[in-house]
Amino acid sequence: MKTIGLIGGMSWESTVEYYRIINQEVSRRLGGFHSGKILMYSVDFGEVESLMREGKWDRIGDRVAAIARTLEAGGADLVLLCTNTVHKVADRIETAVQVPFIHIADATGDAIVGKGLTRVGLLGTRYTMEEDFYRERLAQKFGLSVLIPPDEKRGMINDVIFNELCKGVVKPSSRNAFKGVIEELGARGAQGIILGCTEIPMLMGSEDCGIPLLDTTRIHALRAVDHALD
Ligand code: GLU
Repeated sequence: MKTIGLIGGMSWESTVEYYRIINQEVSRRLGGFHSGKILMYSVDFGEVESLMREGKWDRIGDRVAAIARTLEAGGADLVLLCTNTVHKVADRIETAVQVPFIHIADATGDAIVGKGLTRVGLLGTRYTMEEDFYRERLAQKFGLSVLIPPDEKRGMINDVIFNELCKGVVKPSSRNAFKGVIEELGARGAQGIILGCTEIPMLMGSEDCGIPLLDTTRIHALRAVDHALD
């Protein structure tokens, strides 16, 4: 089994889920007492979040590239960045290490194509919903049409992610608000919804919606297990 390197802590609430999903899946596939071989570097999210707000993405890129090199030097055979948003600087990691870097949008794109969907809605931070690095990758590499909610709904989603979910707060009122946004995206033709923030699955799952949900945390973590056991 290969060793999975995780760049985590963004936020740690979702990194815990990566750790759980990887271990549960290795146990499910191999049985017995088997569990994942994992090397995790968990950052102080307060530092990274400030840099994001100040637009200092170069500094974030420097930091995650250095962490990826540390994981590689420590024996990681593959590297994952456990957040959608910080994939804005994914190229910095790709060029920093020799071992495979598993891009979260690629794993998600494959899952969407595998379900036969072509038009999907995207929920995530403002960075992820509004900038090109995520939507364009899905459009260019996978031919997907990606819808995003209107501006005021994007603000609400971004606030719930940073002010509630990243702090471990899960509110039924926010779940209902997200459901409303998903219904609107469905009415605009979305065949599925990308939960494009690794904390959103804390708030809702497919039981909450009548439309397929693409849980990027789970998709990404399972892709890592595929590589590790390949
Ligand atoms: N974990 C989140 C994501 O998947 C948001 C927090 C962050 O900005 O890293 O985008």
